[in-house]
Amino acid sequence: MQRGGSGGFPALILVLLALGAFGALVYTNAQPAPALRVIVPTEALPTAVDNLWASILEAGFGSDSTPLPTIAIPTAEFIPPTLEAAPAALTPLSPMEIAGATAVAFSVGATPTQAALPATAAPLATAQPVTQQYVTQPPSAWKPPPLIPPLSRDPLGRDHFWFTRPVDSSANNAGLFYYPYGSDGPENLWRIHAGIDMPNPIGETVRAAGSGIVVWAADGLRTAGGAFQDTYSYGNVVVIQHDFGWRGRPLYTLYAHLSAVLVVPQQTVSAGDAIGLVGNTGRVTGPHVHFEVRIGDQNNLLSGTVPGYGSTLNPVLWMVPYVGTGVIAGRLTNAADELIMDADITIREVARGLVVDTTTTYIFRGTAVDVNSDPVWNENFVVADVPVGRYDVIANVNGERVIQRVSVLEGTTTFVELSLGNRTPSP
Ligand SMILES: [Zn+2]
Repeated sequence: MQRGGSGGFPALILVLLALGAFGALVYTNAQPAPALRVIVPTEALPTAVDNLWASILEAGFGSDSTPLPTIAIPTAEFIPPTLEAAPAALTPLSPMEIAGATAVAFSVGATPTQAALPATAAPLATAQPVTQQYVTQPPSAWKPPPLIPPLSRDPLGRDHFWFTRPVDSSANNAGLFYYPYGSDGPENLWRIHAGIDMPNPIGETVRAAGSGIVVWAADGLRTAGGAFQDTYSYGNVVVIQHDFGWRGRPLYTLYAHLSAVLVVPQQTVSAGDAIGLVGNTGRVTGPHVHFEVRIGDQNNLLSGTVPGYGSTLNPVLWMVPYVGTGVIAGRLTNAADELIMDADITIREVARGLVVDTTTTYIFRGTAVDVNSDPVWNENFVVADVPVGRYDVIANVNGERVIQRVSVLEGTTTFVELSLGNRTPSP
């Protein structure tokens, strides 16, 4: 009995232990699984790229930060505007056509108004000094606004209208027609002109034609060697070396005969900044601003010196035209393809038969201070501020005449070749 009794007690304990372990297992598995720990940020995360940039700006600049503009992505492919191609130069006019056209004669210096223009006038005479006989554009109180430089609408990229005009639109900002670039004046007595003159009252504001740095602002002009430029006096003169160039070459503009100089050397200027006042200092016959464009070599890009008198180019090929106007540049040659110097060129509007401008071809002396044809055009005459339209460009040399008809487009240069004595007959 004892054995039996003593043998049953441990077995009871084992059963109780087994029951307890089973109960503990059941209890544990009945509990819910422990939850995953999720870190919840205290600030909202950026939801878009621009919000991210705004956050970066805010962090970097605080309240000074500026929201970025949003850019609308164009859905259609960008199509560049196309330009109307310049029509090819037409064949010269026949004598019958020439006889049918009329021109209006004025004495030099006359200022006719549009209403005073006679309905008809004598035909353009052959072999007469046109510059002395015909007036240029009738003056007008109203001017269209200038186009925006830099401008080169020419499909071949030849135009380089990089500059504004050196005086306001309300001032006279057309070059004096009887003393154009490369000419020697009305009586062939003046110095060959290395720039253009814009007659204006003393005190009219003279403005930088483009941005750059003032490299000369004093009386007279010294070249790199330090000597005064020739014997001619510019009076008070400012020269700006521009912070842009042309085909790797530095560009300069020069403003002479100023009554006051408003800038100092090494001063940085922007286009349109007042740099001086119109005056009559130096050798002049009346108050005006003498304006030049000079081009340097690649090796004097940083020299800060002004290239010499022989480095000028015709400024009207560099100043941006007015809205609705263009430029005619041309080359007058003889049968041997040599440039004809100091010849009269007349620009006659086809529709009304009116002479709208005259000029003379460049004079070259074969010296180091000669004027220059533009490296793009190789021209020997230029007429600016020509309203859009069709024109006959007429040259008279020793009784011989050649005419080419051209179309002037806005903001571009129309080039015309006039060849005397070497014309192929029309078919
Ligand atoms: Zn001048």
